[in-house]
This record gives sequence, C-alpha cells and structure tokens, in this order.
Amino acid sequence: MKFIVMGSGTSNGVPVIGCACPVCASTDERDKRMRSSLYVKGDNGERIVIDTGPEFRLQALRAGIRYIDFVLMTHSHADHIHGLDDLRPLSRIKPVRVYCSEHSFNDIKERFAYIWRKTQRGGGKPRIDLQAVTTPFSFENLTITPIPVKHGNMDVFGWKIRESYVPPDGAADSVSDGKSFDTPFVEAAYITDCNFISGESMDQLKNISCLIIGAPRVTPHETHFSFGEALAMVKKIDSPPLRQVFFTHLTDDYLHTEICEYGETWRKENNCPQITVLPAFDGLEIPLTPLIQVKGKK
Ligand SMILES: [Zn+2]
Ligand SMILES: [Zn+2]
Repeated sequence: MKFIVMGSGTSNGVPVIGCACPVCASTDERDKRMRSSLYVKGDNGERIVIDTGPEFRLQALRAGIRYIDFVLMTHSHADHIHGLDDLRPLSRIKPVRVYCSEHSFNDIKERFAYIWRKTQRGGGKPRIDLQAVTTPFSFENLTITPIPVKHGNMDVFGWKIRESYVPPDGAADSVSDGKSFDTPFVEAAYITDCNFISGESMDQLKNISCLIIGAPRVTPHETHFSFGEALAMVKKIDSPPLRQVFFTHLTDDYLHTEICEYGETWRKENNCPQITVLPAFDGLEIPLTPLIQVKGKK
C-alpha cells in the first residue's frame, strides 16, 4: 500500500493570498501547500481519496487518478469538502461512494443540496452515494476504521487503513520448527484536523507503523494540535511498529526545511531514534510495507 499526500496545507493553503512572508515567497516546491488531502493506493488496485478540498481537481490530475473506489471524509469544513463537485468525471460509470460521520452527512447534504435535488436535470452534478458510518468496514484487502477525534468542539474522523496480505505460496513452509505466519498486515493512520484523541481512539492506533497528523504550527491553536502536542500524542501511542510521523495541515509559519530540523531535534531530545518526524509535502509518496509476524518465534 502507498499513501500519497495530495495536499499538506492549512485551510488558507500556502502561499496565502496577499502574503509575502519567506514561506509564501519560497521557491522550494515543498513549501507550496494545497489544502490537506490523501490518496491511498492499495497493492490490489484499491484506490481511496481522503477529503476533497478546493484543489481536488488539480490534485487528482497531478496524482494521475483515473478511478476511485470511494472517498473518506474527515469532516465538513470547507477546506476538506468543497471540491466534492469535482468528483463528477469519476462518477460517470457509477456513483462515487463517500463515507463520513453522521454530522458530516447532514452538513454535506445541506451544503451540496443540488446534488440530491430531483428537479435538476442533466449531468451537471456528480453522482454521490453518501454513507454515514461509525464502525470499521472491509474493501478487498483493506480494512477501513473511522477514528473519532475532537477538532475543537466538533466531532470529526481520523481514518486508519489496514492492508492484509495473503502470504505468498510456500512462505509458511520456509519457516521451520513449527512456526507459522499470522496474516501479514500494515496499518497506517491519517488524522488531520484534531486537538484531542480519547483513550479509546488511541487504542485503535497501537499497530500503526505510519501516522500522518495535522499539526499546523508550533504555537497553540484552539482546534488543532501544535507540533509539540502532536508529538506528545505520538509518545503516548503505544505502537512498537510506529516508525514514521508526518505533520500535515501546515501553515506558512515554517519552511519545509525548518520543520525537518524541528523533527530531528525532537527525536534526539526525546530519545526516539526509531521514529522519523517530517513535514508532509504535496506529492510525497509513502510506501507502506507489511509487518511479517511469525508465531512462536524464539
Ligand atoms: Zn482543515
Ligand atoms: Zn477543520
């Protein structure tokens, strides 16, 4: 499975209109941050998009998206759903399923009321099969789990994706002494707009090897984790396989290179050499390989 970051920016995007700060003026492509979105490519051909922000069309073209199996929504703020209409070309053959929370379901129906209005004729709107979910569901080799978290006083979703692998023929035989394979898998989570994760939701993260977490800036924010708060969470997540942490939903406060330095310093000061902390950037591809668990290993 592969995660492809389609957008890593906060609600304004970066550069911010009218801003001439060093980050907005930077010529480093990694400092150009479209609104946050993720593209998930399963090894079995599964294709998922998380959030359709205002730049969804540009992001989909850049990522070479030709079809998608479904969309997962984190919440109904404008920077996460206002590109929904651009699902139109992807809904020609059949309606695109969009999974979201109950709260987002009502908001999306209201915000995009024309999509469901029977009186409008013609093809000038996407065909959306909107579904509110509360529990994990499976699709091909993937298991999709909504992770309820808080974004200020709003209940929103993070998403965990697990990919299970059927061991190749003969793989089990290559392990002698009565050892056998569990189903190998890889789990990774995407939690963008968030400033609180309950203990129950933390428990959902205990096998992840990669976390993309929204942390717009160093200074505190009412509805988002700061860099420090996000990393305090990372330390609390009791996941031995956790190796990669990426910040997303970034403001124009720091250059990509400065956030890299921040992560490196944190890792050294907190004695976490096994975890890399990096800023996400638009176009970043994160390959995720399965953990091979061997039962009864001495
Ligand atoms: Zn947002
Ligand atoms: Zn938000």
